[in-house]
Amino acid sequence: MSEDHRDQYYWRAKKDQFRSRAAYKLEFLIDRYGIVKDGQTILEIGSSPGGWTQVLVDRSCRVLAVDMQPMDEIPDVTFLKLNILRENALDRIKDGMVRSGIQKFDAVLSDAMAKTSGIRSSDHAASVMIGESVMRIATETLRKGGNAVVKQFQGDMTADFIRRWGKYFRDHRITKPPASRKESSEIYIIFYGLATEATDKNMHDPGSDLA
Ligand code: SAM
Repeated sequence: MSEDHRDQYYWRAKKDQFRSRAAYKLEFLIDRYGIVKDGQTILEIGSSPGGWTQVLVDRSCRVLAVDMQPMDEIPDVTFLKLNILRENALDRIKDGMVRSGIQKFDAVLSDAMAKTSGIRSSDHAASVMIGESVMRIATETLRKGGNAVVKQFQGDMTADFIRRWGKYFRDHRITKPPASRKESSEIYIIFYGLATEATDKNMHDPGSDLA
């Protein structure tokens, strides 16, 4: 990281022994929006190097963490190294749930983001593609009433993304945590309260509105 990018959150993270400054974004999302309660069971997508995971463990949550990059071990956290854009990602997560004795998650949180190109439209499109996978996984693995959070670079597909996935949830919010860099178009979309568990086959049917 260049010295220019070492802002107050970078130094705070060092002092607080968080693995990343991203930890403060999750603390904000939890404290302001109540997306997670202490002790809940969480699927965390895009977890490496582990700042969000540390925040969740500090709040006594049970965490299944996934990332395409490796992550140094955190006690009591199950980590799966996988690319969520791969076809078998959902099956591997479901397999991890069975092996950990998890039936459904209380929340699915994603900070996953591809490396940025600096071209706004491409970065937006890549973030929407990741978001689609996150929401497919979330709607398959959340309990009824569970929350989903997905990071996105805001752009012209954001409203349609929220419209299509929002209809499966009670409510939604868009937010930008203070620890998110001002110059970035990064936002977090919070979907509150899955209306029904994913027993409805049409939810992911290519012929449905979600395709
Ligand atoms: N929340 C993390 C923390 O607090 O330390 C930081 C996450 S970092 C901003 C984004 C992560 O998303 C990277 O570790 C990256 O490997 C992961 N990622 C990007 N695309 C992914 C994909 N398709 N599948 C799994 N992980 C992915």
